[in-house]
Amino acid sequence: MGKYSLQTEAIRSGSHPSQFHEHSEALYLTSSFTYDSAAQAAAVFVGEQEGYIYSRFSNPTVTAMQERLAALEGAEACVATASGMSAILATVMAHLSAGDHILASASLFGSTISLFNNILKRFGIRTDYIAPANTCGWEQSVRPETKMIFVETPSNPLTELVDLGALSSLSRKHHLLFVVDNCFCSPAVQRPLEMGADLVIHSATKYLDGQGRVLGGAVAGAKAMIDPVYGFLRTAGPSISPFNAWVILKGMETLQIRMDAHADNALELAQMLSEHPSVERVYYPGLTSHPQHALAMKQQKNGGGIVAFEVKGGRKKAWQVIDACELISITGNLGDVKTTITHPASTTHARISAEEREAAGIKEGLVRISVGLESIVDLKTDLLRGLND
Ligand SMILES: *Cc1c(COP(=O)(O)O)cnc(C)c1O
Repeated sequence: MGKYSLQTEAIRSGSHPSQFHEHSEALYLTSSFTYDSAAQAAAVFVGEQEGYIYSRFSNPTVTAMQERLAALEGAEACVATASGMSAILATVMAHLSAGDHILASASLFGSTISLFNNILKRFGIRTDYIAPANTCGWEQSVRPETKMIFVETPSNPLTELVDLGALSSLSRKHHLLFVVDNCFCSPAVQRPLEMGADLVIHSATKYLDGQGRVLGGAVAGAKAMIDPVYGFLRTAGPSISPFNAWVILKGMETLQIRMDAHADNALELAQMLSEHPSVERVYYPGLTSHPQHALAMKQQKNGGGIVAFEVKGGRKKAWQVIDACELISITGNLGDVKTTITHPASTTHARISAEEREAAGIKEGLVRISVGLESIVDLKTDLLRGLND
């Protein structure tokens, strides 16, 4: 964490006004930079003098975004990428080699599982999956070639938590790189580096932007861990556009206020749902009935903005609740000021078999909501329409 509180850092850090003394951070839409002389160009290119070269490597707007996110995550360094997926790819390419093994949470973002199983496997990197809450299972699965532990917490959509303190001890004991995809919480709710993680990954597309406008990603951690990720990015090129970095930079200014409001709305909706006769079960870490509520309160500031619930009546009732929404958007995206609703069994988890879905606890009656910032009164009315029917 920087010198000030998170709310202040979110607004002030990374701001380096130019000769024009602009108050709001400028957007530098330029692919390259020029020099006063051949000698100066040479000095910048070999790193003897500070300066920008080319926006695949670095750009002042991107630097501002990186500095701001580093301050929020309490990281020494941060590198921004084109998307959350390219942040994950860059991390793996920078730190792993053929023959290495990853231990991953069984409940990961679908494209992450696809990257690990379908792409990394072809390059000799194998992955085993462990149930997030099974702390003993993690240690039993460590192999001599294990190099990395990769988790998301809370998980999507069932909000299962990984014990970050326990897994960071395990990682230290076995000299593993502990990587946390912190997209569901954002640093305003959870700061994994403070709990012993080595690297934090973001899909900045979600809460960091917060308004569903652009794609972006980032990796944050110690400089020694980030330098190889930057090296991969500089060579391979999944770099963020300065425009996207600028949108995310401005989005972060309201991160703490938005996350507090997302969590307030989510808790109120979760409470309403848990008392409704058509609802079988609610998944939300902020509810005292959540099996890992105590852990949630230890490692998170609040329950976050994602709520899942199972309705009585399977897919038919779930679709009825979704179709009755007039306000809430039917989409798989999350982390937006606009509330979104989705039926995981037929959308985000449709490509896996019914047996795999059952094993993963994704029931036919399950509905996931990314709770936005509309009035809670209107959100309740929208959901009750289908539930009461
Ligand atoms: C969306 C998401 C990603 C991928 O991010 P993109 O910006 O879409 O590439 C990775 N992890 C989690 C948890 C996500 O929700």
